[in-house]
Amino acid sequence: MKLILASGNRGKLREFREILELLGIEIISQREAGFHQDVEETGETFEANARIKAAAVLKATGLPALADDSGLCVDALGGAPGVRSARFGGGKSWTDEQKYMYLLEKLAGERDRRAKFVCCISCLFPDGTAITARGECHGRILDGPEGTGGFGYDPVFCPEGYDSSFASLGEDVKNSISHRARALAAFRERWEEHHADR
Ligand code: IMP
Repeated sequence: MKLILASGNRGKLREFREILELLGIEIISQREAGFHQDVEETGETFEANARIKAAAVLKATGLPALADDSGLCVDALGGAPGVRSARFGGGKSWTDEQKYMYLLEKLAGERDRRAKFVCCISCLFPDGTAITARGECHGRILDGPEGTGGFGYDPVFCPEGYDSSFASLGEDVKNSISHRARALAAFRERWEEHHADR
């Protein structure tokens, strides 16, 4: 089966392709499918935003569409930046470094460093059925940035059970425990159930 990935992010495209081709799913980018809109993420939850993005692509192409929405939730900030992770501080014009430095400033002197990354996946089919899956990765916010790998908030996030940031642990470790990897694992299970039902 072919699924359109409702994202313009090349890193996500590669990650989804690698994992889902094992299920015999061919992932096509929204660009390859002729969809060029930047869908506004107006939802208040990760689930809602993933669904909004998948629904826009399904509506425009008539083909099954897959989307994810992810972000970082920090306990001491009441779950912020959460669904606004990409727009934190100065918004989309800020670099990743500006955003995580802003986060560190907000947490200056704060002893509660607990945080989690969350990823929600929504897959919508033309017959009205849907598969949703969620993955979380718990950890803490470091006092300063570490490492050069990854993207986004990776230099300041240390996952539970480790002593270094996602940015220093490397892709293999990150991809085995990340919120996205966990959401994809849950998605694979649901995919098999969804297909067994048909
Ligand atoms: P979106 O899922 O494309 O809306 O992006 C959400 C934002 O959350 C990204 O721009 C990053 O700032 C942050 N984010 C999501 N996943 C990760 C991750 O694995 N590492 C670091 N930052 C992430």
